[in-house]
Amino acid sequence: MYSDIQEVLYSEEQIQGKIKELGDQLSSDYEGKNPLVICVLKGAFIFMADLVKQIRVPLELDFMAVSSYGQSTKSSGVVKIIKDLDVPVEGRHILIVEDIIDSGLTLSYLIDVLERRNAKTISVVALFNKPARRTVELEPDYAGYVLPDEFVVGYGLDYAEKYRNLPFVGILKPEIYTT
Ligand code: 5GP
Ligand code: MG
Ligand code: MG
Repeated sequence: MYSDIQEVLYSEEQIQGKIKELGDQLSSDYEGKNPLVICVLKGAFIFMADLVKQIRVPLELDFMAVSSYGQSTKSSGVVKIIKDLDVPVEGRHILIVEDIIDSGLTLSYLIDVLERRNAKTISVVALFNKPARRTVELEPDYAGYVLPDEFVVGYGLDYAEKYRNLPFVGILKPEIYTT
């Protein structure tokens, strides 16, 4: 499986270090707020698990699954809720945990949904950010790394549902996309 990887961009150690920094910031910002931390499945599942261990305040968590129709390496902007939250968000401080923000379409849709449900505050933490590819105006409140316009896999992120279990984040060899 590792032989499909052309280049490792961020090692397991680097990612854990960044998550510790994000956790420190979130721990101080969410003190006394009992946030509802929402994981956007599937891509954010590993990030979510590692991040909440570094947020040292009482919190609750929930999961949401969305799919965006279209090609496997692009978001179409048409978002469908596959699995909704189990708990109401009204009056809650919401922290959305995302793997990566690309066009921003998925998140702007989700934020819209949660606003209509009367969340008290909505913030976004994303491990990766590709600001150059944005088609809607949206910036994460907390972000790990800025990525160039390249498709990455690993640490939860897939290509055709594979590579999510890589402990690092990297780029696939070009021939993987064409075969
Ligand atoms: P957006 O709606 O911001 O265009 O896309 C958001 C989703 O597309 C991300 O949560 C992620 O699931 C997927 N995505 C965007 N860029 C990449 C990438 O470089 N690699 C992988 N594996 N998924 C990506
Ligand atoms: Mg995602
Ligand atoms: Mg995907």
